[in-house]
Amino acid sequence: MSKNYRAELVGAFGNPIDENPTGVMEEAAFAAKGLNFRYLTVKVDKEDLEAAMNGVKAFQMKGINLTIPHKVRVLEYLDELSEAARIIGAVNMVVNKDGKLWGENTDGKGFLISLKNEDVSVDGKNVVILGAGGAAKAIGVECALAGAKKITVVNRSRERGQDLAHLIAEKTSADSQYVSWDASYRVEPNTDILINATSIGLYPDVDKKPDVDYNTITPSMVVSDVVFNDPNTLFLQEAAKRGSHTVNGLGMLVNQGALNFTLWTGTEAPLDVMTDALKKEFGL
Ligand code: NDP
Repeated sequence: MSKNYRAELVGAFGNPIDENPTGVMEEAAFAAKGLNFRYLTVKVDKEDLEAAMNGVKAFQMKGINLTIPHKVRVLEYLDELSEAARIIGAVNMVVNKDGKLWGENTDGKGFLISLKNEDVSVDGKNVVILGAGGAAKAIGVECALAGAKKITVVNRSRERGQDLAHLIAEKTSADSQYVSWDASYRVEPNTDILINATSIGLYPDVDKKPDVDYNTITPSMVVSDVVFNDPNTLFLQEAAKRGSHTVNGLGMLVNQGALNFTLWTGTEAPLDVMTDALKKEFGL
């Protein structure tokens, strides 16, 4: 039998990219599944994105992750988009389907799976999202597409917050409203799921937490954070003190990585292996 020395290639394009840990969990998953795939963490400047995407085709790569600053601009170089990616207007991953590039956004889907793994459904629920950036947008749109009743967007910058609330109300069947964030946010008692989708609390600012009146958080609420480094954020610690069910950002990270793995390889992802690899990397 002839040997195959050629590895299948996937990876990530971004800048900054040096500290992106995704390759650690994807490489661990390839090894666990005995797949000859390599995950390349590649620094690509804004103005070089077109050349880099042509490279994906020229090298016949199976696909690529996109991160800052390419998630929106890359749409110009794609042939097709998933429904969620079209609504969000940003992709975090691309699959090369026989030379045609298909874009998907797995951030929000990874978030929903992390809730589902904790027996939490968003169907019919009142969801409050702190933040209106890339992560908030992906989560808001996916929660709405998964049947959430209402999405409240709480954001410091009014324009960004209003844009996200309008987008959800226009493009999905969920209700959505923007609430300004110029004072400590008081969580409405009918809130089912409260999510920090800002970068507040991200390393090295682990002593910071979103400006919320934490005494308005009740035990009936599920409280989640997208920040994964360190996953035990002050925000989640405060919610846990009020008896809430908390879900940290590690699940979202691992599950979006697992979805990407499956879309690229056609193989079920070894979730435990990927989780362990990341925890080890973060010293948890
Ligand atoms: P963006 O830069 O797109 O958005 C940042 C958001 O945080 C904005 O809404 C911004 O508000 C808000 N914000 C930042 N600082 C403050 C502050 N001091 N006070 C109030 N609001 C603030 O970032 P992303 O959405 O891409 O990422 C957000 C977080 O999500 C990061 O920590 C990232 O690591 C994490 N993430 C986690 C993932 C996971 O898998 N767990 C996946 C993707 C991201 P404003 O609009 O006013 O500037």
